[in-house]
Amino acid sequence: MDEYERQRSRMVNKQILRRGLKDPRLLAAFESIPRHLFVPERYHDAAHDDGPLPIGHSQTISQPYIVALMTALLGLGGDERVLEIGTGSGYQAAILAMMAAEVHTVEYVPELAAQAEALLMELGLDNVHVHVGDGSLGWPENAPYAGILVAAAAPEAPKPLLKQLEDGGRLVLPVGGRGTQNLEVWERKGDDFHSKIETAVAFVPLRGEQGWDREVW
Ligand code: SAH
Repeated sequence: MDEYERQRSRMVNKQILRRGLKDPRLLAAFESIPRHLFVPERYHDAAHDDGPLPIGHSQTISQPYIVALMTALLGLGGDERVLEIGTGSGYQAAILAMMAAEVHTVEYVPELAAQAEALLMELGLDNVHVHVGDGSLGWPENAPYAGILVAAAAPEAPKPLLKQLEDGGRLVLPVGGRGTQNLEVWERKGDDFHSKIETAVAFVPLRGEQGWDREVW
């Protein structure tokens, strides 16, 4: 075991398993994806800390526990097609790649998308498809999705995303403004949508048509 593997193992035990997330597939995903490669080199030693880290372009890689929680809330069995909005470093997409059959991830900042895509391909995660665009509108080309995960805070659950869920599918996203937001879980049953609030979280703003205006946040 190298030093990073040891750090990952500690991270999984202390931050994920002990906080109640026990799905063996989820834990295995966090054990196998080399989180340090998704943060800038000067943060390699802090890559397994219990919090978010800067990744450039005013964006962050989420706290490991929050990545785990949002993934768990999708309730994936392994054969699904899923969508992520806000690729950022690509770390969440890499975890999803281990948990589902096909992952589409959309990023607004072309430089971040290119960097994430290169790393994901280097790691052989070829079931991830990185797209550049406004993910607040989803990614209709490959819809419907069994799960949609939004890694940036929206003013409300975007209608286009709800529309791109398959029957029984789930949307997990932070809703709210600057400061803290509510992590919401939406589930589609036919043409009905049920939502519940899971916990409080702190994310960067979702931009784009269904996101926050820069004058507001
Ligand atoms: N999931 C990422 C964390 C992303 S931070 C990771 O694991 O590292 C949120 C990301 O959402 C940022 O990279 C930001 O550029 C992106 N973003 C914000 N608004 C967006 C939009 N409308 N469409 C796509 N990406 C968006």
